[in-house]
Amino acid sequence: MKAVMLKPEHKLALVDVPKPSLDGPGQILVKVTGAAICGSDVHIKYGDIPIAPETVIGHEFVGVVAEAAPDVQYFKPGDRVNTAACLWCGCCPACRRGEVQYCQVGGIWGGGFFKGRPLPGAQTEYVQVFNADMCAVPIPDNVPDEQAILVGDVLGTGYHSVVEGGVGPGDTVAVFGCGPVGLAALASLQLFGPARVFAIDVLPNRLALAEKFGAEIIDASKTDAVSEILGRTDMNGVDVAIEAAGLPVCFTQALNILRRGGSLSVVGLFPESVQLNLPILGLSGVRLSMGLGNLGSMRTLMNLLENGRLDLSSLITHHFPLSEAMEAYDLFENHKNECIKVMLRP
Ligand SMILES: [Zn+2]
Ligand SMILES: [Zn+2]
Repeated sequence: MKAVMLKPEHKLALVDVPKPSLDGPGQILVKVTGAAICGSDVHIKYGDIPIAPETVIGHEFVGVVAEAAPDVQYFKPGDRVNTAACLWCGCCPACRRGEVQYCQVGGIWGGGFFKGRPLPGAQTEYVQVFNADMCAVPIPDNVPDEQAILVGDVLGTGYHSVVEGGVGPGDTVAVFGCGPVGLAALASLQLFGPARVFAIDVLPNRLALAEKFGAEIIDASKTDAVSEILGRTDMNGVDVAIEAAGLPVCFTQALNILRRGGSLSVVGLFPESVQLNLPILGLSGVRLSMGLGNLGSMRTLMNLLENGRLDLSSLITHHFPLSEAMEAYDLFENHKNECIKVMLRP
């Protein structure tokens, strides 16, 4: 079967790999119907996230159950399924705390491990899913692949960023970065009743989508986001800032527009370190949360999609056959043709 593989010197290639088969309890074999390209796949390509060459990459996928081990309870062949971007065990101290993203024996598809076994990536035709009852969710009939595929990573992370920020009714919120995760955060914010939401980016097509999610948009290529937000809030700043860009400049700006005691929720992936002005920050009492998105809310999010409380149909802007994966990467990483997110179809 075909698969997208990381090669040396920051290259990807479409290669042939063996089809996996079930070899233990709790597993399902998923025939992939859609695999998305994520910003972190681009970080992997350029070595910002180090994984070994010759690894099949990709961690966002939907498909149909081709086979299920006899002990699997919630899936049977023919069921549509979305799997989390990383697998977790459910039993270790981190999982028991509910922080499944830090599972001590789990990891991400395409470079990670689950209980010592490597997890090849999902930009391919079939994926062997371990611990399926815990880490995968059925897709309701009325939820298309294009939205279901977001639940296991992009939407789960965006929603998590809002929860970690502690957003409540009447809050003023700023979201830095309107890529897929930032847009998913903007969509999720609608569930928590903020009074005002600012969205900051430099790409017009992303800002247009942010506006559709109810945000007041700020084009950071044309104006200074800090003075703009402070000006529009009578110098009060915001209650919560969400950093979904992974840029040091955005991180610093987000801290500079927080009210005293406000909170900054960071879900962007940073390629370099950032300096903190602790003499000032220590007195302002800001709270800072960061880390991987907790994907334990997948069933909740799928319910919200099923019942029309969330609509992320605008995020997947392009489809490519898996055979044209290299063209798809070129479009995605260079933001061509107003691309937000790409789905590969095996
Ligand atoms: Zn992802
Ligand atoms: Zn665990």
